[in-house]
Amino acid sequence: MNEGQRPGTAEAARLVEPSRVAAPSDTWMYLDGRMVRYSEARIGLLTHALHYGTACFEGLRAYWNPDLGQLFVRHAARHFERLERSSAFLGITPPLDVPRLVALTLELLRRNEIRADAYIRPILFTASEVLNPAMEGLSRSFAVYVTPFGRHADAAVGTRCMVSSVRKIPLASIPASAKITGTYVNAALAKSEARRHGFDEAIQLTGEGRVCEGSIANLFMFRNGAFATPPLSDGILDGITRYSLLQLIPGELGVGVAERSIDPNELYNCDELLLCGTGMEVLAVTEVDGHQVGDGRVGRMTAQLQQRYRQAVRGYSPRYRDWLTAVYEGAG
Ligand code: PMP
Repeated sequence: MNEGQRPGTAEAARLVEPSRVAAPSDTWMYLDGRMVRYSEARIGLLTHALHYGTACFEGLRAYWNPDLGQLFVRHAARHFERLERSSAFLGITPPLDVPRLVALTLELLRRNEIRADAYIRPILFTASEVLNPAMEGLSRSFAVYVTPFGRHADAAVGTRCMVSSVRKIPLASIPASAKITGTYVNAALAKSEARRHGFDEAIQLTGEGRVCEGSIANLFMFRNGAFATPPLSDGILDGITRYSLLQLIPGELGVGVAERSIDPNELYNCDELLLCGTGMEVLAVTEVDGHQVGDGRVGRMTAQLQQRYRQAVRGYSPRYRDWLTAVYEGAG
């Protein structure tokens, strides 16, 4: 769906989502030091990580700039630095340092000849085939998959959210800063609950009842002339898109942004609300639990942020060019 079309219903937004990608069997992947076809990259059914959720992963996006004939990976090093931090928590180490992880990602995009918006999924997992959750002495595997990838949802329409009954996992159980696969049962339950109740997305609360984040996205609220977003101490993932918005809001919109706890009641009478993440990009929340946010359409601040964000990630803003790594040599 192109930007000019405004179907006007959340149902229509759902049609361009979810981002289910059929992996063509001949896609090139990276697996444990080799480039292999997707059809050759197989793991055993007793793989430890499949049973115990002991893997960590990342989700990166690359954006095609047709004017420059260039593909840009957004915040490549930051994603792999986060992977390193997640893996340290699990006690496993990526096989390569961050610059080499970035380099292999670029190589994989080139090998697949991707000249379109793309998604990149690195995953580091305990690979030994054992029936025991203990992690000592296990082997590990590392894989990267890339695929052409469009929009998560129609940004012109926005998304309808439900405050989920599924609370976030307490920080003392699994740190929110680690992107560990087992943790995502929590996201899956919250998102499925929202879908069952006719909403698009879930907003989750901390165990204590403060606003935390979406199932796979961070949250910003615009109220009384300023933005607010929950702090890391409220158990959010240290989102890379959140970090970008913390730069764009004061730098491009000239308004304030506070990292502070948000009470769920504030969601029902704020002026604008948005979810942000690598996959979701910047998405307006137009409704929470049946309460309209603002006038029920994408708000003015959110629309401006979407525009600035899109320009930055596609390589049209010199000011934010350092967010990007070019894939093709010789192009712009
Ligand atoms: N929170 C959670 C729980 C997520 O899974 C994601 C997606 N990685 C985000 C927030 C957004 O983070 P990022 O902007 O780094 O994609």
